[in-house]
Amino acid sequence: MIITKQKSIDEILGYIKNDPAVFLVGCAVCATTCKTGGETEAKLLSGLLGAKGKAVTGWDILNPACYLLESKKLLRRKEKEIAAAQSIISLACGGGTQAIAEVTGKPVYPANDTLFQGEIIRLSPQEDCFEKKCTMCGECIVGITGGICPVTRCPKGLRNGPCGGSHKGKCEVDPKRDCVWVLIYNKLKEFGRLGNMAVTAKAGDHSRGRDYILINKR
Ligand code: SF4
Ligand code: SF4
Repeated sequence: MIITKQKSIDEILGYIKNDPAVFLVGCAVCATTCKTGGETEAKLLSGLLGAKGKAVTGWDILNPACYLLESKKLLRRKEKEIAAAQSIISLACGGGTQAIAEVTGKPVYPANDTLFQGEIIRLSPQEDCFEKKCTMCGECIVGITGGICPVTRCPKGLRNGPCGGSHKGKCEVDPKRDCVWVLIYNKLKEFGRLGNMAVTAKAGDHSRGRDYILINKR
């Protein structure tokens, strides 16, 4: 899932200081799960903006906002409300925000910061906790590392074994986190595949995952 974090209301108000009326768009998938861009958050933001003298002409939650072709169809149903607004506030991730900008042809401002691809560790009224799991490197090697990504979860991005600084299973860069190579070792041991530790992963090909447009031939 794409992990997002809400921007402050002041930052959002700064974007729309010259726009008396706005339309809100959220996302039914990742942003809803992160509690940054679902129905609840759209209603909350609508109330906050109203209290600051802004008119909210309407809102919609797309499923998902980043699916450009689907978003085109869905936003047609809110044509009038969108036309009545000077700008759109997106409660989706960066990809969703760009899709909304393309579909509406209006100025679109993000209500969220997009952080990373990750998982939910915990959701609670006090705090939410997410863990970064994949940096979308374009060349997945977790098939030899026990399903655990060292590219993302080792602060040094080491693909071929630990740096040697691990202490009691913890990372030398951040002792609060486990050394990912200890986790990988233990997982491979559990699978009876410790031989994978001797497999040398190729140096990362940094040209991969950076294509501007990708055509996936089958
Ligand atoms: S190896 Fe690359 S694609 Fe695979 S999980 Fe890690 S960052 Fe993501
Ligand atoms: S201690 Fe482990 S996780 Fe930390 S930098 Fe070294 S290899 Fe990476």
